[in-house]
Amino acid sequence: MADKIRMTTPLVEMDGDEMTRVIWKMIKDILLSPYIDLKTEYYDLGLKNRDLTSDQVTYDSAVATKKYGVAVKCATITPNAARVEEYNLHEMWKSPNGTIRAVLDGTVFRSPILVKGIVPFIPNWKKPISIARHAYGDVYKNVEMQVPQGAKAELVVTDKDGNVTRELIHDFKDSAGVIQGQHNLDKSIESFARSCFNYALDTKQDLWFATKDTISKKYDHRFKDIFQDLYDSEYKEKFEETGIEYFYTLIDDAVARVIRSEGGYIWACKNYDGDVMSDMVANAFGSLGLMTSVLVSPDGKYEYEAAHGTVQRHYYKYLKGETTSTNSIATIFAWSGALRKRGELDGIPELSAFADKLEKASIQTIEEGIMTGDLERLSTLENKTAVDTETFLHEIDKRLRTLL
Ligand code: NAP
Ligand code: MG
Repeated sequence: MADKIRMTTPLVEMDGDEMTRVIWKMIKDILLSPYIDLKTEYYDLGLKNRDLTSDQVTYDSAVATKKYGVAVKCATITPNAARVEEYNLHEMWKSPNGTIRAVLDGTVFRSPILVKGIVPFIPNWKKPISIARHAYGDVYKNVEMQVPQGAKAELVVTDKDGNVTRELIHDFKDSAGVIQGQHNLDKSIESFARSCFNYALDTKQDLWFATKDTISKKYDHRFKDIFQDLYDSEYKEKFEETGIEYFYTLIDDAVARVIRSEGGYIWACKNYDGDVMSDMVANAFGSLGLMTSVLVSPDGKYEYEAAHGTVQRHYYKYLKGETTSTNSIATIFAWSGALRKRGELDGIPELSAFADKLEKASIQTIEEGIMTGDLERLSTLENKTAVDTETFLHEIDKRLRTLL
């Protein structure tokens, strides 16, 4: 075999927890290290080490991503009360993904991997639909009150000079009720828009954006205007050169078009729409084990990962020495995505080509009927075999060798 592929800039490697941590090492040992002289800057985001470092390691890994531009992340536990007890934690540390996203000011894009035999519930979806969710504000940072009958509710804004503007929300003279205050920030909306335009250019896919601006004439309309102004001033020419389109429509119309479409575009959503629609689209495509995720910052930094969690139930089987059949595809694609991007940025075409072949070998394995249990249950192939976690990786490696 030829020499190993050399890397010049390190990849930021964020290790994680439970079954995905087990898979992480297997992927490196079986599919990466034999072929690449892997150069990574390693951060152990496993819960034990996050606790040992008072979560400093998570912050440091995000800062390193800002520095080097590309990271690959393993799934991590977001602690809850049960985890605090299980790991004897000093604190209920925050979600690592939240911390990393805050440092990078990024947007998450989730895309399904399509393979023959796993048929989307919407049969006309032939290409992936990537969902981008704005992860700041709106109902997620709301203020709510119950209002008694006879009360009057107003919006009051006091500007920096003390001038007050009031607007009546509702006079509750006939009935008690509820009110809600929401906000968003031009700065955050603009970062979101920038990440979306950059990712569309990066992946050469059309970008769709939709809100309810006909009803929300100031709030949602602000989103629409910020996207359009940024598009016209900075992205229109680049989109035309690349041959892709930016398309705005009303959210109702977007939903109708998405269902009738073939896929193959990015759908940018406000926070709540993205929360709901990403679950809908992920389930309609078939399997959480085939869903990838990438965090893109407005200044073009990338962090790749699988959309699923640490697959805790499989890990406890693994610890008992039982056979597991955990799907590693989304984690493999996180690595291939990161390696391809590193190859592009550093001018190492062999590295990007390796990433393509790794993805091809992975898909080929499933399409030839060898897959993990979660896929075997869904696949419409006639000849299919469910294999264990490690065998699946060796089967991918067999096919990878023929492509190299
Ligand atoms: P999960 O790890 O995604 O797993 C939920 C279930 O989905 C599994 O029990 C399994 O079903 C199936 N599944 C998910 N990924 C699979 C794969 N690769 N192969 C086969 N089956 C797969 O979600 P969770 O159990 O709710 O969360 C576990 C931990 O992950 C939590 O501590 C949570 O905080 C963390 N989490 C992290 C991230 C992240 O780092 N991005 C995201 C989500 C959750 P069966 O048991 O039926 O086989
Ligand atoms: Mg949701």
